[in-house]
Amino acid sequence: MSFEKLGVIKELLEVIKELGYNEPTPIQKRAIPLVLAKNDVFATAQTGTGKTAAFGLPMLQRLRKAHLDEKREIKGLIISPTRELSIQIYEELQNYAKNMHLGISVLIGGKDIKHQKKLLKQNIDIVIGTPGRILEHTQKGLDLSHIEIFVLDEADRMLDMGFVKEIKKIHPLLPKRHQTLLFSATYSDKVRKLSKLILTKPEFVEVAKKNSTVEAINQVAYLVDADKKAPLLAYIIGSRNFKQVLVFTRTKASADVLTDELKKDGLKCGIIHGDKTQANRLKTLNEFKEGKIKVLVATDIASRGLDIEELPYVINYELPLVPEDYVHRVGRTGRAGRDGVAISLLDVDERFEIKRIEKLIGIKIPKESVKGFEPDPQIRRKDKDEVTPKSEHKQAQKRPAAKKTALRQPAEKKKIEKQKIEKKASPKPATTKKRKTKKR
Ligand code: AMP
Repeated sequence: MSFEKLGVIKELLEVIKELGYNEPTPIQKRAIPLVLAKNDVFATAQTGTGKTAAFGLPMLQRLRKAHLDEKREIKGLIISPTRELSIQIYEELQNYAKNMHLGISVLIGGKDIKHQKKLLKQNIDIVIGTPGRILEHTQKGLDLSHIEIFVLDEADRMLDMGFVKEIKKIHPLLPKRHQTLLFSATYSDKVRKLSKLILTKPEFVEVAKKNSTVEAINQVAYLVDADKKAPLLAYIIGSRNFKQVLVFTRTKASADVLTDELKKDGLKCGIIHGDKTQANRLKTLNEFKEGKIKVLVATDIASRGLDIEELPYVINYELPLVPEDYVHRVGRTGRAGRDGVAISLLDVDERFEIKRIEKLIGIKIPKESVKGFEPDPQIRRKDKDEVTPKSEHKQAQKRPAAKKTALRQPAEKKKIEKQKIEKKASPKPATTKKRKTKKR
C-alpha cells in the first residue's frame, strides 16, 4: 500500500519521496484514510511508529489553501505535553507543508508571549503548543472558534502531567462541529475517560500490542550494585564504543551526580531535566544530535518527545518510577523499524521493580551481569516502605503509593507498625543505616 493509494495529494507525495519514506507505517495506513474521511480517531501508538505523519499529513491535506493570501482563520489545533515535542511536531509539519500554502505556528511556554501574539497575526492556519500556553493565548484573544481539526498528541502523558484542567478549559472554546484525533501511547483509564468527553463516534486504531515496547528493540538488564552503576555505565559506553547514547535517571539529582561522574571518566555528556531552561535543553539536544555530545543524561519528563533519528542505544541507569515510562524511554530507540538496544542497570531493589515493567510489556527481559561488575550476593533488598523517591514526575509518583496503601489490609498495617516499633527499639546494624542514607 503506497501513500498515493491512501489518497495523499501530490504536494505531500513529493516531500514524502524526498524524505525517503518508501511506504506508510502501519499507523499511517490505518489513520490517514480515516482522518481524510473526517472521522474522530482514537489511536494507540507509541513514539517511533510514525504517528506525527499519521495525523499531520491528512491534517495538512484537509486544511490546505489554494493561495497564500486567502483569508485565514485558525483551523487546526495540536496540543502536545512538552515544549520539545511541540517544536518537533512543528518542524515535521513545516517540512511536510513546504509545497503548500499553509501558515503554522508553535506556542510554547518559556518564549515571549507578545512575540507569539504578533506571529499569530500572520496568516496562521495551524497552531501547535503545550496546554498551558495555548490556554494563556486564548485568554489573550486566540480564537479557536473556527477549529476544524483538534489533535491531542501523547494524551496519556498530558494527563499524567496534570494537564486535564487545561484541556477541559480549551475544549469548550472549539466549535461544536470539529474533528478530534486523540493519540496515546497507552490505553489507560484516564485516557479512556477523556476520550469519552472529547471524541464523537471515534474509529479505533491500535497498531502495537497494548503497552508493548517496539518490537525491534533488543532489551537486556545487567545486575549490578548501586555504587558500581556509574563505573559500569562508563565501561559499557567505552568498551563497546557507543557513539551516541541516551541515559535515563529517575531524578534530577541523580542526573546531576551521574553527569559529573561520567565527565570525570572523560565522556562528553549533556544533561536535560526540568531545572534546565528551554533554551539550554534545546542547545544540549542539538549538540547531541550533531554528535558533539556522546552521552545525553535525561529524566523522564524532560526527555518526552525527543526525536533523535536512528538512536541505537538507550540505557536505563535507574528504572522509572512508573512502568509506562519504560515504554516511553525505550521508544527513543528502534524508531520507525530500525534496530535498537535498551539496557537497564538493576540494583538489588530494581530486580523486583522490573517485574512490574515485564508484566506491563508482556516480555521477560533477560538478566545478565558484566564481568568485573557482578553484584555482591551479600547485599540484600532494603525495606521498601522507608524509601520515598523524589521523582520529577510528581503526579505519577503519588499514584502507586496511594494504591499500595489502599490495598493494604488492617492486619498487615498493624504488622508493619509493630515491625517499625521493634526496629526502633533494637539497635540498627551499621550496614542498614548506610544503605538507608544512600543517595539514589
Ligand atoms: P514519530 O512516531 O512521529 O515520532 O516518527 C518517528 C520517525 O519516523 C520520525 O523521524 C519520522 O520522520 C519517521 N517516519 C515517519 N513516517 C515514516 C515512514 N513512512 N517511513 C520512514 N520513516 C518515517
